[in-house]
Amino acid sequence: MTHNNPEVPNKKSFKETLNLPTTDFPIRSNPSKEDPILLQRWHEENLSYKTFIHNAEKEKYILHDGPPYANGHIHLGHAYNKILKDIITKSQRMTGKHVPVTPGWDCHGLPIELKVVKEFPELAAEQIKKQCRLYATKWINIQKEEFKKLGVLMNWDQPYLTMDYSYEAEIVRAFGSFYKQGFIEKKNKTVAWCMHDQTVLATAEIEYKERKDPSIYVRFSLEPINVKRLLPTCLDKKVSVLVWTTTPWTLPLNRAVMLRPNTVYDVLEIDDEYIIVARDLSENICSLKDVPKKIATSINSDILATTTLQHPFIKDLTVPLILDHSVSLEDGTAAVHCAPGCGPQDYEVGRKHNLEIYSPITPDGKYTQDIEPEELSGMSVTDGQIWVIKKLAENGSLFFKTSLRHSYPHCWRCHEGLIFRATNQWFCSLMHDDVRERALLALEKVTFLPEKSKNYLKATLENRLEWCLSRQRIWGVPIPALLCSTCNFVHTSDELIEKVAQGIEKEGVEYWDTVSLNDLGLNDLHCNQCKEKTLTKEKDILDVWFDSGVSHYAVLATNPALQFPANIYCEGIDQHRGWFQSSLLTSLVLEKEACTKAFLTHGFTVDERGQKMSKSIGNVVSPDEIIARLGTDGLRLWASSIDYGGDAVISETLLKNVGQIVQKIRNTCRFLLANIYDFDFEKDSVILEELLTIDQYALEELYEVSSSIRYNYMINDFTAVAHELSDYCTVKLSSLYLDIIKDRLYTDKADGLKRRSAQTACWIILDTLTKLMAPILSFTAEQISDHYQKNKSESIHLQNFSALDSIWCFLQKRSEANRWQFTPLHLHTNVQKSVDAISEISAVSLRKKQWELLLKIRSACNKAIEIQREQGLIKHSLEVSITFYCQLAEEQQALFESFVRDLNETNQSLAEFMKEFLIVSQVTQQVDSTGLQETELKGLYVHAEHAQGTKCPRCWQWEVTDDVDGLCKRCQEIVK
Ligand SMILES: [Zn+2]
Ligand SMILES: [Zn+2]
Ligand SMILES: [Zn+2]
Repeated sequence: MTHNNPEVPNKKSFKETLNLPTTDFPIRSNPSKEDPILLQRWHEENLSYKTFIHNAEKEKYILHDGPPYANGHIHLGHAYNKILKDIITKSQRMTGKHVPVTPGWDCHGLPIELKVVKEFPELAAEQIKKQCRLYATKWINIQKEEFKKLGVLMNWDQPYLTMDYSYEAEIVRAFGSFYKQGFIEKKNKTVAWCMHDQTVLATAEIEYKERKDPSIYVRFSLEPINVKRLLPTCLDKKVSVLVWTTTPWTLPLNRAVMLRPNTVYDVLEIDDEYIIVARDLSENICSLKDVPKKIATSINSDILATTTLQHPFIKDLTVPLILDHSVSLEDGTAAVHCAPGCGPQDYEVGRKHNLEIYSPITPDGKYTQDIEPEELSGMSVTDGQIWVIKKLAENGSLFFKTSLRHSYPHCWRCHEGLIFRATNQWFCSLMHDDVRERALLALEKVTFLPEKSKNYLKATLENRLEWCLSRQRIWGVPIPALLCSTCNFVHTSDELIEKVAQGIEKEGVEYWDTVSLNDLGLNDLHCNQCKEKTLTKEKDILDVWFDSGVSHYAVLATNPALQFPANIYCEGIDQHRGWFQSSLLTSLVLEKEACTKAFLTHGFTVDERGQKMSKSIGNVVSPDEIIARLGTDGLRLWASSIDYGGDAVISETLLKNVGQIVQKIRNTCRFLLANIYDFDFEKDSVILEELLTIDQYALEELYEVSSSIRYNYMINDFTAVAHELSDYCTVKLSSLYLDIIKDRLYTDKADGLKRRSAQTACWIILDTLTKLMAPILSFTAEQISDHYQKNKSESIHLQNFSALDSIWCFLQKRSEANRWQFTPLHLHTNVQKSVDAISEISAVSLRKKQWELLLKIRSACNKAIEIQREQGLIKHSLEVSITFYCQLAEEQQALFESFVRDLNETNQSLAEFMKEFLIVSQVTQQVDSTGLQETELKGLYVHAEHAQGTKCPRCWQWEVTDDVDGLCKRCQEIVK
C-alpha cells in the first residue's frame, strides 16, 4: 500500500501497522495438480467407507444406485448421473442423516458375451462365462476409478455386482418367488426377434426407425363354388380378395385373412377379373392401376366371412376369412394377411380364432425343413422376400407391387430390422395378482421429480400385459427348470430352485453347466407327463432387466446396512422403460411395496443445438475434457446448474459461465480466509449481542440464505442452490458487505472489538458457505476448510451444515423485544412449512425491513457521491463528506428511528455507522433540509462535498488533525 500523499510533509510509511490480508490459499486453483492430490488423500483416509458408516445411529437415507453396464469408459451421461447422486447424498448426510451408498454394476448380458465370443470363438459355455467375468471385472475397475475421479463418494470397495455369486443366487430366489406366486409360465408365443443377435427382445429393447419395404397386393382367390353361393350368378370371371402386405416372406406362414366386421366390401371389375376390397378403399385400389372404378356388386363382410380362400402358392391350402375389429379402413385393402407365427397381433388373433401358430423359422432367420413349399427350406427370410414376390408374379397372384417407407421395429443393439417368430419362452404375467394395477396405484404414492415424469413411467406400464423373461443366450442367470426332450413338458419346483440357488451361491452361474441331475437331488428322473426318462436342464437365461430389476431385493432387503424401500432412485429418462419399470414391478411381487419413495429423472446430455451426443455426429464431449478445462468442481457445478427436467446441455457459453462462477465463489472465500489469518474463533470471537450492527445484519442475511439453500437441497433443486451460492457471493458479499468492512479489517486495532466483530462475522460466513457448497464444489470446500479449520480432524464431507442456532436465538430475542413472532425452522414438521416460515420472517421481520431501508438510503447517497465524482471533485468515496436530513414517509421514518434506537443500545452512533456503511470520511446529520437536495428516496435530503482536513496516510480517511504525521485520531491511538 504505497501512495503519494502531497498533503503530508513527512512521508512516513505505516504499512507494517496495517492488518493487510494474507493467505496462502491461491487465487487460481490448479485442478490438474490439486484434484489428484486430494483424491489420493481421501483414498488414504478411507473417506468413501467413512461416509458409508458415518452417523450410523441416525436416521437412514437410502439412495439406491442404478447399476451402469460394465462395458466401456464412462461418458458424460454417466458422470452427470453419478454427480447428481453424489450431490443428493452428500447434502442429505450434511443434515446429520446416515447415508450409506452402495454403488452397483450390471454385469450379465449380450454386449459382454458378444465381445468375448468374438475374441474366443472356440470356447464352451462354461469357459465363455469365466471370460465374461474377467471382462466385466476389468471394466468395473476402470469405471470405478473414473467415478472416483469425479469426487463421488460411495462405498467403492464393497459394490454390488449382478454377477456376484450371492447376487446371482438372489436372482434365482427372486425367480423362485415369482414362480411360487404363480406369475411364471412357459408358452409358445410370437415375439420380437433379432436374427443377428439370435435372441428375443423385450419391448424396451425395440427401437423404431424408417425403412423401405416392398408393398404388395396379392390375390387370394375364391373357389367357384363359393362364388356361386355368395355372389350374383352373372359374375363370370375369377374372383379374389385382395390382401396387402409389406412382409412378403411371411406369406408362406399365412393362416387366415382378416376382414373388418359388418363392413361393405366392393366387388370391383378390373380388366378380366373381380377384386374384393373394402368400399372405403376401392377408390385407392382403382387409382393404383389407373383404371375407372366399376362396381360389379358389393357384399357385407359378415357374409363374406363364411367362406375360405385359396392360398396364393401353397397347393391344397385354404385359409379362413375371419372378422376382427383391428382391421383398419385407413390403408391397404381392409383384407389383412394373418400369420400368427410371425406377428404379435396376428398371434393374439390366432389364439382367439384357434389358428395354427405356425413358425418354421430358425433362430438365425432361415426357414426350417417344416416349411411349405419345401424349396424354401434352409433359405434365409431375406432371400425368401425375393422368392415370394417372384413366385406370386409367376403364378399370376401379384396384383400390384410398389415400395414404401415406414416406421419399422429394429434391434437396439445391432440396429438391424427385427422379425417376429413364435418360440417357446418364459413369461411373467403382469395381469396375475393385479400386479400391473398395483404398480399403477403405487405410482400415486411415489414422488416424481420432475412431476411430469410420472406420466412416462405410467405410459410404459399401461399397455404391458406380460414380460418375456427368457433369453437364448449364455452370459446370464439360468432359469432353474428341467425340460422333457420327448414331450417338452417343463419341470420345476420350489425345492429345485432353492437347490440351484445354493449351488450358484457357491460356484456362480457356472454351477448350472456342470451340475448333474443326480446332484440336483432328483431321485425320480422321469417326466411327469410322458413318463420317459428324458429330462434335460433348461438352457435359457433370464432377461438382464430382471437381474438389475431385483436389486432392491438382492441388495436393499438383504444388506442390514441398507434399507428397503429406498428413499430415492435417480436415473436418466430412458430408465422409465428400463430399470425404473423392472424395479417397480418386481418390488410389488417380491416385497408387495414400491421399491422407492421417489424417482428422480434427468435428461440426456446434448450439444448446444440440442442434439444427443453421439460418436457418428462427432459432438461427444468427455468428462475429462471438461475437467481439464474447469477442474472437477467445474464439471460438478455444471451438473448441478442444469435443470434436470430438460436436456443436459453442454455449450461454450455455459462452460464459460460455469468457470466464472467457480472463480467468483473462490475469490469471495479467499477474501474471507485472508482476513481471519490472525483470528482464532474459540478465543477471539465476539458474542452476537456485542457485534457491530452491520455485522449482525450480515449474519441475519446469512441465516436466511443458508435456510433457503438447505431447503433447496432437500427438495433436490440444485439449480437453485447453484444460483443462490453464486448470487450470495457476488451480490451480497463481494460488492456490498465485504467492501464495507474492508476498512475496519485493514486499519482498525488488530485485536480491538470492532475488527474482531468483523472477523467473527467473516468466520461464520466462511464456515457456513464452505459447508453449503461442499456437496457441489467438493474439492474447493475441502481445500478451504483445510485453511480455516484449526486442528481439522475430519473431511468436510463428514461435517454437518452449520446449524446457525445462535443466530436464530438472537433473531428470536430481537423479535421478542420488538414483539415480532416467528417459529424456528427446526420446530416445523416439514420443509414446505419451514419455507413458509422463512417468507413469514421476511415479510414481518423488523430487522429485514430496516436493512432494506438502509440499502435504499445507501443507494440514494451513492448517487450524490457519483455526481461529485463525475464533476472531478473527488476520486475515491473516502474523500467525501456527507450531510443529510431525514424525514421519511411515516412507516419508513418509524423504521429508521427504531434502527437508530437499536444502534444506540449497542453504543454505536449513527454517524459512525453511516461513515462505514457509505465508505466515506465524514457524516453529519442536520436538523433541517437547508442547503441539501432531496434524493430519489422521498424525505431523504443529502449534500455531498469534498471532506475537510487531510488524508490520513495510514487509513486514507480525511480528518482535520494536528498530528505531525497527519494521522487521524483513530490511527494515532493505534500506532502510538
Ligand atoms: Zn440385434
Ligand atoms: Zn415328457
Ligand atoms: Zn487513519
